[in-house]
Amino acid sequence: MNNPDSAEYAAPVFSEQDKQWMEYAFQLAAQGKELGEVPVGAVIVRDGKVLGEGFNQPITRHDPTAHAEIIALRQAAQQVQNYRLVGASIYVTLEPCTMCVGALVHARIARLVFGTTEPKAGAVVSKSQLLDNDYFNHRVSYAGGLMVRECQHQLSEFFAARREQKRQEKWERQSQVTPTSNGGDE
Ligand SMILES: [Zn+2]
Repeated sequence: MNNPDSAEYAAPVFSEQDKQWMEYAFQLAAQGKELGEVPVGAVIVRDGKVLGEGFNQPITRHDPTAHAEIIALRQAAQQVQNYRLVGASIYVTLEPCTMCVGALVHARIARLVFGTTEPKAGAVVSKSQLLDNDYFNHRVSYAGGLMVRECQHQLSEFFAARREQKRQEKWERQSQVTPTSNGGDE
């Protein structure tokens, strides 16, 4: 299920519009990356128009709920002056988490399209399959795997750079403490 190369992910057929909006979300994610945030972007679209957009920024905003999807949902709801976004689609570069899946249902989003999966905490196909539950009073259709390689690469590149930076910092800290002895008694 987590394997993006599996038939599961070859199955959905995406339209040209889908590709265009995922590219849009991908560019948003890149903006987050510039701020040192985990690069995830989301855009909400209805009738070919953007209602809301966002990228992940919990660090910058000091807000644990500031995921790309939540920021986009808030903006969209303000835009249409209605917390229900009936008939709208959301494009997000990464499989949503539990919080965001819940918010999509509350907002009555019609369709979710995501890029890559989130094996550790994804709540659509990876760790849990919340949207397959029938206890919600609204059904969000979903399809994953659009621009999967690009989205995956954007994230793995970010984490690799961050690991490298941490290694570098650790090395600098150690090299500050280790050396220098003046030979003893003073
Ligand atoms: Zn989330």
